[in-house]
Amino acid sequence: KCGWERSKSSESPNDIMVTDIVAKLLAEKHGGRVSDCSAPVGCPYKASDAITVAEGEMTTLGDGVFASMDEAVNAAELAQRQYQFCSMQARQQFIDGIREVTLVQDNLERISRMGAEQTGMGNYEHKLIKNRIAAEKTPGIEDLTTEAQSGDNGLTLVEYSAFGVIGAITPTTNPTETIICNSIGMLAAGNAVVFSPHPRATEVSLLMIKLINRKLATLGAPANLVVTVQTPSIDNTNAMMAHPKVRMLVATGGPGIVKTVMSTGKKAIGAGAGNPPVVVDETADIEKAAQDIVNGASFDNNLPCIAEKEIIAVDQIADYLISCMKKCGAYLVSDPAVITKLEKLVINTKGTPETSCVGKSAVYLLDKVGITVDDSVKIILIDLPKDHPFVQEELMMPILPLVRVQTVDEAIDLAVEVEHGNRHTAIMHSTNVRKLTKMAKLIQTTIFVKNGPSYAGIGVGGEGYTTFTIAGPTGEGLTSPKSFARRRKCVMVEALNVR
Ligand code: NAD
Repeated sequence: KCGWERSKSSESPNDIMVTDIVAKLLAEKHGGRVSDCSAPVGCPYKASDAITVAEGEMTTLGDGVFASMDEAVNAAELAQRQYQFCSMQARQQFIDGIREVTLVQDNLERISRMGAEQTGMGNYEHKLIKNRIAAEKTPGIEDLTTEAQSGDNGLTLVEYSAFGVIGAITPTTNPTETIICNSIGMLAAGNAVVFSPHPRATEVSLLMIKLINRKLATLGAPANLVVTVQTPSIDNTNAMMAHPKVRMLVATGGPGIVKTVMSTGKKAIGAGAGNPPVVVDETADIEKAAQDIVNGASFDNNLPCIAEKEIIAVDQIADYLISCMKKCGAYLVSDPAVITKLEKLVINTKGTPETSCVGKSAVYLLDKVGITVDDSVKIILIDLPKDHPFVQEELMMPILPLVRVQTVDEAIDLAVEVEHGNRHTAIMHSTNVRKLTKMAKLIQTTIFVKNGPSYAGIGVGGEGYTTFTIAGPTGEGLTSPKSFARRRKCVMVEALNVR
């Protein structure tokens, strides 16, 4: 029996009756399923219990998928009210369940392959790493630390408490990674979540939500803690944002949607765009910097918002850096005619990246401009002036411009300029501690990686937890369960102070 069921034993028979009747009526009204909590909580996971969703069931109704946004939100609200009475132990088990169902090898491979195929962006091998790390390294309930103050006047606790129903908008670039990460973080903080996936990632997003729901059901969780709609769309996202039962909005995406959630008048977390510069100065280990930059900038075909998007190199070492990068899988384009062809291919008439080229491989992009290379080519490297759109725009494809400057101070200033105040991510290769510190202070990014590939900043080969919702604009930074909770104070007067 989970805490939700157990909690009833301390209530009067009347309270129990009222709770049961309300739950039953709401469930009938909204077509939701109310868990009877009779499934054993935290039953030891066995591989033979592997949860799956058949091809034909992927986008059908049920398992957290609703026909309308109103139904989805109402079901999540009922689930959250029931969830409030589950014990922390049960919460932990539900979070563990989300990790487990993702990490079943068949599921991990399926969501990673579908994510790449459906969106036409990124690559399967790197999505495997991203989905795995979202399941393994997103913090759980241990993040919710309690503060206590005691004195002559008694004892005060400040605790992290749920918001209620959270509306989470997810990007096409990390469709399942964000659902896994947000589900763990938001449920750990005691919330239910309504997802609004990117329409271009519908099937894989619905599959992930169904896998989570089926797993949670086996663990006796209240039904519909993680929900969505059958047909994600801008209209449905707008309906979710406006729904009075949605208490908090979390947007992981570009500047448009971040601005929109911040204008709703609700508590909003905005995880927006980046344009991460990587600075390389004359004191860096150039061979290592070259390898790290190629690895970071080619990760998932440069889709991650944290990936290196432009190199700013001190002129003294720029040629050597280029020659080292060529040995690690960079293809140098110097012919102005080819550069023009690439511009026409990847920048649209509005001056922004062409969607059909976002997240494509270097091999694919080069092929489109008439250059055939083999799979050892990971990025396209171009020596360019700072005003070029490849430097200024967040391309999200493995085209990496290199801008030369005379000094490291000039490099830092230019990095701040091309990061455009996003305060998202920056990378620097240097052994000069003073200059590393100077850049960290001036650029003010949420993530600053020193002497490593950008992905070290989300815990791939770097210390620390992971998140796929990096909230620079609203200041939560590397979101974790705390970010999805309210700080509430419980004051016991004149007692419980034992000092
Ligand atoms: P996007 O802004 O096009 O879409 C993001 C989400 O917002 C999608 O679900 C989309 O359907 C929705 N959306 C967009 N405009 C909307 C509107 N007008 N009304 C209602 N819903 C709307 O972004 P994308 O292409 O999916 O993702 C790439 C962008 O996201 C990049 O800019 C990248 O840097 C950013 N990103 C940021 C983070 C972070 O943690 N900061 C993580 C991943 C991606």
